Amino acid sequence: MSMLKALKSKRLTELRSQQNVQCRDQLIPITIIRSRRRRRKLSLQVGRSGVVLRAPFTTPATDIDMMLSRHRDWIYERQQLLLKQQGSVLRYESGEQHDYLGESLELVIVAGSGRLTVERGDACLILRGDAGDAAHISRTLQQWYLRQAQQLFAARLSLWAARLPWVEGAPELRLRRMRSRWGSCSAGGRICLNTHLVKASQNCIDYVIVHELCHLQEFNHSPRFYALMAAAMPEWRQYKAELESVGARIVRE
Ligand SMILES: [Zn+2]
Repeated sequence: MSMLKALKSKRLTELRSQQNVQCRDQLIPITIIRSRRRRRKLSLQVGRSGVVLRAPFTTPATDIDMMLSRHRDWIYERQQLLLKQQGSVLRYESGEQHDYLGESLELVIVAGSGRLTVERGDACLILRGDAGDAAHISRTLQQWYLRQAQQLFAARLSLWAARLPWVEGAPELRLRRMRSRWGSCSAGGRICLNTHLVKASQNCIDYVIVHELCHLQEFNHSPRFYALMAAAMPEWRQYKAELESVGARIVRE
């Protein structure tokens, strides 16, 4: 179907294409998303999953080229920054900063004997016991994050499920450690959340939960879906941006 025909039939809400842009010594692929929802503004986003330019259907290609050429340096610098954050390796040593619920907590390892335990202190995470090597500390911390996530996500999910009129009961919840997505909702109504989310703020966690709960009503990203999102959580875009800014860091380990 031609774009115009598809537009007229109102079936097409989004059109995606790829374009490469030379930024310094790199050829960076840009995903261009034209949508009918967007009226005038062009926006550019550099995230973990790449560079995305959003524009209305009616924007001339020359305007898009101009936007990209103006922001060449900015795209390059943002990408370098993200790569750096992604590449920085955790060493699991005292003094290192670890994220939890949107806060940066200092790792404090108190050497001792017996099983290694984790306790949240004032602006720190205290590990007591036989620490062993970095891999052992990492595993112990993962288990701690998982336990916190299980409790917190279940509580936030049942709270939001009770608030949203189309949700009946509390949906089944699964947790998984994922690198490329924050959550998903199955056709059967089961919600899966990324364990790493427990390192982001409660607003970010709520945003992902509300997004998945909206999928129980609208199993797509249609304008109706975004209308539900806006009604349930008017400030969701702000939380989404916040999550994108910490995303690369919190999925590291
Ligand atoms: Zn979705």
